[in-house]
Amino acid sequence: MTRIHFLPLLAVLAFAVAGCPQSPAPDAKPLVIASFYPMYDFARQVAGHRAQVVSLVPPGVHGHDWEPSPQDVARLRQARVFVYNGAGFEPWAEKMIAEAARPSTVVVAASTGLARARSAGTSEVDPHIWLDPVLAQGEVEAIRGALEQGDPAGKAVYDANARAFQAKLAALHERFQRGLRECARREVVVTHTAFGYLARRYQLEQVAVMGLAPESEPSPAALAHIVRIARRRKVTTIFVEPLVNPRLGETLARELGAKVLSLNPIEGVTAQEAAAGKGYADLMAQNLESLRAGLGCK
Ligand SMILES: [Zn+2]
Repeated sequence: MTRIHFLPLLAVLAFAVAGCPQSPAPDAKPLVIASFYPMYDFARQVAGHRAQVVSLVPPGVHGHDWEPSPQDVARLRQARVFVYNGAGFEPWAEKMIAEAARPSTVVVAASTGLARARSAGTSEVDPHIWLDPVLAQGEVEAIRGALEQGDPAGKAVYDANARAFQAKLAALHERFQRGLRECARREVVVTHTAFGYLARRYQLEQVAVMGLAPESEPSPAALAHIVRIARRRKVTTIFVEPLVNPRLGETLARELGAKVLSLNPIEGVTAQEAAAGKGYADLMAQNLESLRAGLGCK
């Protein structure tokens, strides 16, 4: 099965109307544009020094909230490969591809074939694939395929880099398995339901206090409901995420006498994390430590 998405006809027509885009200098590295942080980090790991990888969503910005500017759309015209997660995480991507991808641009939705419904009985797809270190390997594989299609001469480099990064992800998965095997509790109370795939992989239970969009505020009635459930279940930890206002988590924690720990959905990086060169694997290792502390794991 191929995970590469070929360019829709519409993009070809748009190209014909818009005329020839500027072509980059012949000796320039292939440009790979990634939608947001995990796609950027995965593509960067596979590309190494062979290609130039840029992220559309800048540091400090949450992937859910971002929209492309006309300049961002125009940048896509220069790209050899465009990598996005798909499964609805980047609702702007299809339009941008139709408007600005060249006929030769390789477009890959890395989550293709990996996503599932948010919960039983709903058709709403959960886009947070990258937070499961096993599914993340599937996304990296799709990205490797796209880079090799866009730059066939770099195949050996991309293969070697992808193999090394996949080994790192496999080791991360083992750490999660070991680290979350024996825990006093298995409920992960979160303010943003990004951890469904991760919870399923390691037999945890995600208890969500909000829906998909991290910036939404629950109503007072919804908040009271959450507090009731959390009291009944004797919740001791509320997990909050770094790029979002921590007020909700703190209010809940105070109400419940629970502690607040960070659990990062890695939908963006903070400016400090970007400066420190923190990658997906580092941030996931921090998540594991947070989970172990919050769930009382041996
Ligand atoms: Zn999210």
